[in-house]
Amino acid sequence: MQSVGKSVGVIGAGQMGAGIAQVSAAAGYAVRLADVSLDRAEAGKAGIAKALDRLVTKEKTTREDADALLSRIEAVGTLSAMAGCELVIEAATEREAIKRAIFEEVGKGMSDTAILATNTSSIPITRLAQAAPDAGRFVGVHFFNPVPVMGLIELIRGLATADETVARVESFAQELGKRVVHANDAPGFIVNRVLMPMINEAIFALGEGVATIPDIDAACQLGLNHPMGPLTLADFIGLDTCLEITRVLFEGTGDPKFRPAPLLIKYVEAGWYGRKTRRGFYDYTGAEPVPTR
Ligand code: NAD
Repeated sequence: MQSVGKSVGVIGAGQMGAGIAQVSAAAGYAVRLADVSLDRAEAGKAGIAKALDRLVTKEKTTREDADALLSRIEAVGTLSAMAGCELVIEAATEREAIKRAIFEEVGKGMSDTAILATNTSSIPITRLAQAAPDAGRFVGVHFFNPVPVMGLIELIRGLATADETVARVESFAQELGKRVVHANDAPGFIVNRVLMPMINEAIFALGEGVATIPDIDAACQLGLNHPMGPLTLADFIGLDTCLEITRVLFEGTGDPKFRPAPLLIKYVEAGWYGRKTRRGFYDYTGAEPVPTR
C-alpha cells in the first residue's frame, strides 16, 4: 500500500491549519501551508514559530529541534504548490462554498493517487466529496483544538471513500502520534454528537433556573470528573460555534432532542460568544471570570 509520501499540503493557516502543519512537520513531513494569500500563510507560519519558542522556553523541545521543525514548513501563495503532495488537508473557514472552491482549484493539480482530506467539524463528507476530483480519495480527518496537545483524530468516511484512502490516512495519523477513531458520515460525527447535547442541556438547565452558572459547572466538573464544566467549555469553544454545530445536529437528524436551547440563541444574538468576545457565560474582562447571570 502506498503511504502519503514525504510532503503534506495544508490549506488554511488559522488555528487548526497551523496546528496540523506543526504536528505534521514534527513527524518529519515537509509541509506546504497555504491560505488566501502568501501573507496569511506566512502569518500562520509565524504563529507556529511563536508556539515553538514557548516550547523552547519551557524546555519541552530544543532550539535546534524547533528550528529544524520550522524549516520543514513552507508558506506558499497558491494552491498549485500542492501538486506534489500525496496528502492535502483542507482546514479553511467552515463555509461549504469556500471548501468546494478550494477542492475544485487544488484538484486540478493533484496526482491521481493523492488524497484530499477535510478537517470540517460539521459539513457532510459525502456532500463535500462531490467537489473533489475523486470521491474515493476524499475523507474527513477531524483534528481537535489545540492540535499539538489533543491526542485524537476522528476519521470520517463518506459513502464513496475507498478503504485504501482510510488506511493511508490512518497510518499518517498514527505517525503524528494520534489515536484514531472511525466514524461514519453522520451529523456531529462522534465527539460533537455526544458533547454538544451535554452543553446544550446545561444551558437549558441554566435557562430553567435549575442552578447557577458556577454550580452547574462545579457539579459537572466534580460530579462527573470532567476537567472543566460545560458552560466554561462552551465559552472556550465559542457559543456561536456551539450553536452552529447544534443546528447541524438538529437539522441533520430532524430529532427535536437536538433543538438549541433558547438561552444559547439569545447569547449568540447578543454577540456574547465566550472567551473570544470576552463575554459569554462568564465575563473575562477582569482578573477572574465572573458569571454573567
Ligand atoms: P480559523 O478561522 O482560525 O482559520 C481558517 C483559515 O482559513 C483562515 O486563516 C482563513 O484566512 C483561511 N481561508 C479562508 N478561505 C480560504 C481559502 N479560500 N483558501 C485558503 N485559506 C482560506 O478557523 P479554524 O478554527 O482553524 O477552523 C478551520 C476548520 O477546522 C473549519 O472547518 C473548522 O470547522 C474546523 N475545526 C475547527 C476546530 C476548532 O476548535 N476551532 C476543531 C476541529 C475542526
